[in-house]
Amino acid sequence: MKKNNSYESINVKKQYFKLVLTNMIAYFLVFVVLGLVMILSSNTYFFKDIENSLKVCEEDNKTRISKGMNEYRFNNQNNRINVVLYNEDLERVAYSRTLLNYFIKIDDMTPDPLSNEEIGKYLDDSSISKVAIDKIDETIFEEENGYKFMTLSFEVNSPMASEVKYCKLIIMINGEVAARDKIINVYLMISATLLLLGFLASIIVSKRAIKPIGDSLEKQLAFVSDASHELRTPLAIVQSKLENILTKKDSSVMEVSGDIAVSLKEVERLSKLTNELLTLARSDNDTTTIDFQLLNIKESLNNTIDIFKEMAELDGRYFNYDISDIYFIHDKQKLIELMVILLDNAIKYTLDGDSIDVAIYKEGNNAIIKVSDTGIGISDETMKRIFERFYREDKARSRATGGNGLGLAIAKTIVLEHNGKIIVDHNNPKGTVFTIAIPIKK
Ligand code: ADP
Repeated sequence: MKKNNSYESINVKKQYFKLVLTNMIAYFLVFVVLGLVMILSSNTYFFKDIENSLKVCEEDNKTRISKGMNEYRFNNQNNRINVVLYNEDLERVAYSRTLLNYFIKIDDMTPDPLSNEEIGKYLDDSSISKVAIDKIDETIFEEENGYKFMTLSFEVNSPMASEVKYCKLIIMINGEVAARDKIINVYLMISATLLLLGFLASIIVSKRAIKPIGDSLEKQLAFVSDASHELRTPLAIVQSKLENILTKKDSSVMEVSGDIAVSLKEVERLSKLTNELLTLARSDNDTTTIDFQLLNIKESLNNTIDIFKEMAELDGRYFNYDISDIYFIHDKQKLIELMVILLDNAIKYTLDGDSIDVAIYKEGNNAIIKVSDTGIGISDETMKRIFERFYREDKARSRATGGNGLGLAIAKTIVLEHNGKIIVDHNNPKGTVFTIAIPIKK
């Protein structure tokens, strides 16, 4: 985007910042939602199993105790679970590898992840050593001395061990917490990097997205300013000629006929210009009515080409044409308009003795219209810009020939309305060739 501080271009810039901001907010929200999902699912993933094994262990212990199944050696106890037993006054009665171990007084063979001594050391007088009586059967999460535990407390009613009133199952979850934290940290780092990349990408993408709008706005502004400029010149001429006539009040019409003729020419020019502007404005607004019909292009264009042949030959040009019968869907009036623009230019930009050739033929699935001349030709620089509105290689000359620099812009619009392509090239050995390819639709 060029530097432009007009109201419209400021709006485009605003739009650009809005776009970047919206993209960023969208990225951010996506990451936040993903993050929440990640945290929730990793919590579920890491801790649900532990919760379940605590519950299974509770059920298992309760059943065994109530049924007095002390002949069972402990066999399905999760070997990470430690048990603390309390009396009615919430005094610790014992630590046990399993509750069952306490009752049948056998030592479990599997080593404790946390020995009884360790549990005693870390849990004595700490909150974890208290049974949450009011929260019996509830899983809680506690943290003491760097150890992280999940616990489940429940009431025990067994005639076999009357001094035991409560049991607390404890499982150390440092590993799970560390793994979860690591995953969350990695996620946060990845998110931050992706957000940064997203920010850069959104700047680039928004710039790209807004560029066509900025460009077309710039073109629109240039178009309006060029159009006003073009309208001003003939108006100024007409005004000065009319003022001139007014100063010669006593002169006859014959005497001021020169001024009148110039004024008329300029009015004619104005009328052509306004018609052309209207055509372009309509096509810009998509309000052009197109009358597509299945017609033979030879029949559509023959008359127009004949008229131009006559005019060209009167002007001393050689004119040849060769048109094939091609039936395809097109707007006859629009193609006539296109032909008029190209042939008018061909005559304008050729000299006495030059030749103009028109060839219309079918190539593959396209109808090709080729208008070539051996005239003054076009520079490479001009060729790049020739279809731009108001672009003229030599403004003075073009003005002298009545050109506004809108003809080829309109020609291109017509070709685009037919989904076709128009290209310009140098003719050999000199002059210009315009080639149009319109896809044949039947
Ligand atoms: P204009 O009404 O000025 O002819 P156009 O859009 O039809 O406007 O053409 C734009 C410019 O392209 C012309 O001013 C002229 O410089 C160049 N041009 C168009 N057709 C030809 C041609 N056949 N030979 C040489 N120059 C051409």
